[in-house]
Amino acid sequence: MKISFCKKMFYVITVVLFVCLDDTYGSAGNLWTYDGEKGPDNWHLDYPHCGGVSQSPISIKTDEAIVDSAWLVPFILKGYDTMQNLTMKLANNGHTVQVDLTVTGDPVSITGGGLTNVYIVQQFHFHWGKEDKRGSEHDIDGKYFPMEMHIVHYNSKYKNFTEALNKDDGLAVLGFLFEVGKYNLHFDRIIKHFSEIPYKDEHTDIETFAMRDLLPENLDGYYRYHGSLTTPPCYESVTWSIFYQTIEISEYQLDQFRHTVHENYINETIRDISDDYRPPQCLNHRKIHCSKPVVLNSKTTNRNGRTSASATLVSVTAITSLIFLMKLFRIVF
Ligand SMILES: [Zn+2]
Repeated sequence: MKISFCKKMFYVITVVLFVCLDDTYGSAGNLWTYDGEKGPDNWHLDYPHCGGVSQSPISIKTDEAIVDSAWLVPFILKGYDTMQNLTMKLANNGHTVQVDLTVTGDPVSITGGGLTNVYIVQQFHFHWGKEDKRGSEHDIDGKYFPMEMHIVHYNSKYKNFTEALNKDDGLAVLGFLFEVGKYNLHFDRIIKHFSEIPYKDEHTDIETFAMRDLLPENLDGYYRYHGSLTTPPCYESVTWSIFYQTIEISEYQLDQFRHTVHENYINETIRDISDDYRPPQCLNHRKIHCSKPVVLNSKTTNRNGRTSASATLVSVTAITSLIFLMKLFRIVF
């Protein structure tokens, strides 16, 4: 009886230890950072997929992007305008601030955009820099932006996000680049709750808003390539769409991202979440496609991409008209 009891205790202790170790391992497995020993250069040691050949983000070179407007048609957003049957939870996960969506009715989803299926929204989150000159994960012709937003969708052919996560066609992420400009009312719906999630693993329910309000007006122009999650475990399961038109946000609002949410637990040394971007990865064998000719580039895009683009277009039209008139009146040629 005594031995049997001891044996039982041994089994119990073993199971408890296993559970504890497993939990410890689980936590340790999440210990990656954006700098130092556990930084991006070493992610592949703990997460082998991070050393793959189709990783994200990448540098987008506009003159190498292949235009394919027959394939890359405009997206159709479904439920992006609705606020019904939808709840939003804002969380600080120590790496970013993330809004998780739970839908009880028809899913919020995207189709079109060259995708072969319906993709359902799961969450959106941000990457930002300590300074305006950096923060985005993708760059356009070497130009970085102060922030980038990722709206993560999963392929509806899979049961849920977790099942889709590591499948080749599992995820579609819409990426939006930000520029410093005027105050953006829509983002205050998120920012005003930062004081409720100052530390890692804190979360709060927020009042629902229409996601379409966050996006630029024109979504027709975008780059397309196949890549990966930009954080461990870096699965190469993402169809990326990076939009030409940027989102304007004020310096003050960017500062709320930079200084009011921290990567640590309560009672630990405070360290702001900032510079939470992965450096560009090798393009390797991949090609970048785009939905229409790229009008904007790093020279024409600055504080207000649309104005610059319009100005460029107007200038080209004016010069063409002038040459035509000169020819007409035989002033030259
Ligand atoms: Zn991201």
